[in-house]
Amino acid sequence: MPSPALFNALVPSRCLLCEGSVRGLKPLCTGCEAGLPWNDPACRHCALPLPPAASQCGHCLAQPPLFAGSLCAFRYEPPVDGLLNRYKHRGQLGCGHWLAQALADAVALHHATTGALLPDSIVPVPLHWRRLQRRGFDQALETGKVLARRLGLPLLDGLRRVHYTASQQGQGRAERQRNLEGAFAWRDTRNRLAGRHVALVDDVLTTGATAGEITRVLQAAGAGRVTVWAIARTP
Ligand SMILES: [Zn+2]
Ligand SMILES: [Zn+2]
Repeated sequence: MPSPALFNALVPSRCLLCEGSVRGLKPLCTGCEAGLPWNDPACRHCALPLPPAASQCGHCLAQPPLFAGSLCAFRYEPPVDGLLNRYKHRGQLGCGHWLAQALADAVALHHATTGALLPDSIVPVPLHWRRLQRRGFDQALETGKVLARRLGLPLLDGLRRVHYTASQQGQGRAERQRNLEGAFAWRDTRNRLAGRHVALVDDVLTTGATAGEITRVLQAAGAGRVTVWAIARTP
């Protein structure tokens, strides 16, 4: 049982967005939750937000990414960007846990309505140890744990970030690609990827360049299909 102080820190009784009262163990009130920018409809390949009735974006139609598909619960815009920021930079784990649950619910709903099989296992996008040291926790790993528990899937830990990649914000496409080459490696002696459908988990999906590079690494290590799941998608 957590201490009352810790419990209150994890489960505020006031909505994080409007400060209205919240019933139950949630960080947001029902009204604010309903008003969030849920990412639906979106491209089935890269999760780019789309107008109603469209199923894939022009980019994926012309050149589909290496990964087979992606699903992101939210569009990366206010107030979701602020909620993710509280999670990543201010360590509000209760907030992150709720965002991860929302993604798990979106994934479960998608598979229940389409009848598509769930992936065989979950692989979180790793944080470099230097950034992990500064932050104290790995948000993709924490999100992956919530998904693994909710969906009953194994979480595999063989993916390593072998180079320290600078923040990709403000970089051009070619520059991002160059920085990503050799940034990841799969280290696993048990051959757990062989022919498996893997769900790659991250907090935010931006251009898909990182997910594409990791897909290449996972498939070189034997994985079959790779699907990307993230809390939010940058429009
Ligand atoms: Zn509210
Ligand atoms: Zn697309």
